[in-house]
Amino acid sequence: MVKKPKKRIDLQPWQDPKAKPYIHIEGVSKDFDGHVAVDSVTLSVFQGEFFSLLGPSGCGKTTLLRMLAGLEMPSQGKIYIDGVDVTRRPAYDRPVNMMFQSYALFPHMNVEKNVAFGLKQERISRSEINERVKDALRLVQMETYGKRAPHQLSGGQKQRVALARSLVKRPKLLLLDEPLAALDKRLREQTQFELVTIQEKVGVTFIMVTHDQEEAMTMSTRLGVMDHGRMRQIGTPNEIYEYPNSDYVADFIGSINKFEGRVAEDETDHILVESEEAGCELYVSHSADVPIGSQVKVAIRPEKVMISTSPPEQKRNSTRGIVKDIGYLGDVSIYHVELASGKIVLATQPNLVRLAERPVTWDDEVYLYWRAENSIVLMT
Ligand code: ATP
Repeated sequence: MVKKPKKRIDLQPWQDPKAKPYIHIEGVSKDFDGHVAVDSVTLSVFQGEFFSLLGPSGCGKTTLLRMLAGLEMPSQGKIYIDGVDVTRRPAYDRPVNMMFQSYALFPHMNVEKNVAFGLKQERISRSEINERVKDALRLVQMETYGKRAPHQLSGGQKQRVALARSLVKRPKLLLLDEPLAALDKRLREQTQFELVTIQEKVGVTFIMVTHDQEEAMTMSTRLGVMDHGRMRQIGTPNEIYEYPNSDYVADFIGSINKFEGRVAEDETDHILVESEEAGCELYVSHSADVPIGSQVKVAIRPEKVMISTSPPEQKRNSTRGIVKDIGYLGDVSIYHVELASGKIVLATQPNLVRLAERPVTWDDEVYLYWRAENSIVLMT
């Protein structure tokens, strides 16, 4: 798991009702000959944010990005950038730049010329162009590669040149479509950090499309999870991970255990769910505002499930099963535990050397238990 780089945004503008969004998308839809690619999306993004659009292939992420860039016109709704309605403005008339998945470097131009290209269309003196190209290449640590041709660069280096070319025009908003897709896993993880560092340094608002949930979680201030053209949830990586608002989002981000059950109590501070599948009463420390007797799902992340060969004191949120499989991942192990109902529950445990207790192994009967505040009720 990649460690999340620390974002330097202390103030969280999305929590401040007085903060003015830099980008505001209001009820935007896009219909391609009867196929709705983007469906009534409303979203605000604030200056300096690194916002990711996340979702499976075909859910409308790229179409939404292209509408922001002015490469596609919405069928409905409005797009505002810095308070100005840009819905019908062409791409060249927006303070926006887009970096494409393919990087689209010109093969016959060297690195410097590739980066300078965008500036040459504007009326800028040669000395200023040289200065800005140098600055942009320094920013992405490619200042010594200026004379190389694109085919003499590695994938990661091409990616950095494409980024320099996007930033040299000093856009207020940079749109990135799967910017790391062409890189192998290791380089991709390293580049994630670089991209976040560069974004913080230049203070440009970034909106990135990705279908890689780990990447979105690692890099973003906030992210939006899309499904069939709709925005299912918008939140910080932590909110989306800890409090998914639906079954769909819970499944999309990381792995999660879900138990079906019937609501027995719903109070302001807790909900109690009877679950045959879990083999115990499930106590969740938030209310759900649903009628008694409704069927719901209670979800708990595998790393929040504790596993032990001796019984815990708690009766609720506590069940028993047999270890059927153990996945060893180096620093952690994932235990697959089968309950009496046949349900398989995943529990992730760090591989610490525990002298007091013999390690849990295959076919052991174990107790699984968790804290009420670590579980949530999923409504849809
Ligand atoms: P991916 O991760 O695969 O790039 P995505 O989430 O970015 O997918 P989009 O490219 O926005 O998805 O496409 C959303 C839907 O709209 C898809 O069903 C796609 O086939 C359709 N679509 C996109 N562009 C067009 C177009 N120009 N004409 C017709 N349909 C289109």
